[in-house]
Amino acid sequence: MAKAEKTQDEKARQRTVLKASEMDPKFKYEISKLPGAEEVMLCFQCGTCTADCPISRFDDFYRPRRLIRMTQLGLKDRLLSNDVIWLCSTCFTCIDHCPQGVGIASIVRALRNLTVKRGHMPAGYKEQVSNILKTGYAYVISDMRLRKRKEKGLPALPKTNLKSVAKLFNATGFSKTLEKVKT
Ligand code: SF4
Ligand code: SF4
Repeated sequence: MAKAEKTQDEKARQRTVLKASEMDPKFKYEISKLPGAEEVMLCFQCGTCTADCPISRFDDFYRPRRLIRMTQLGLKDRLLSNDVIWLCSTCFTCIDHCPQGVGIASIVRALRNLTVKRGHMPAGYKEQVSNILKTGYAYVISDMRLRKRKEKGLPALPKTNLKSVAKLFNATGFSKTLEKVKT
């Protein structure tokens, strides 16, 4: 076996070996206090959420069932340091199909919020949030696209009240969070 393959195998093995010292028994309770995440302990690992999750089809690690189990086991650092939690598209398919009523997407949102509290946000998300603050839209819409809309007879995009957006960002403390988070 090539050295690079051996190193990869070893890394994969280390990822699957769990140490008791990594587990925070209080983590599941911390999560279950957050809105939508109350039922985290009801998951019995049936896998329905994973079978239906569109993101699981495209990523080898992303499995909602796994994220819930890791939360139950208290693998806080592993979860909060893994950018995989930002892949969820919040489509709610998992929630619709879970026989236990587990708010998987809300639990993933709770994990993201804790990650942001720790001072990290992926660059793409930070850019989108900054765009909302500057333009009211998550994506910058170019003049060329606006011209094209007009040419095709499409209605003008709604105007954003940027003062209200800024007020909301300030009132929630998100402006400060945005300044602090690192990508
Ligand atoms: S569908 Fe619900 S009970 Fe089944 S693994 Fe997913 S979260 Fe757990
Ligand atoms: S909400 Fe997230 S975890 Fe649930 S099915 Fe959609 S992408 Fe998957």
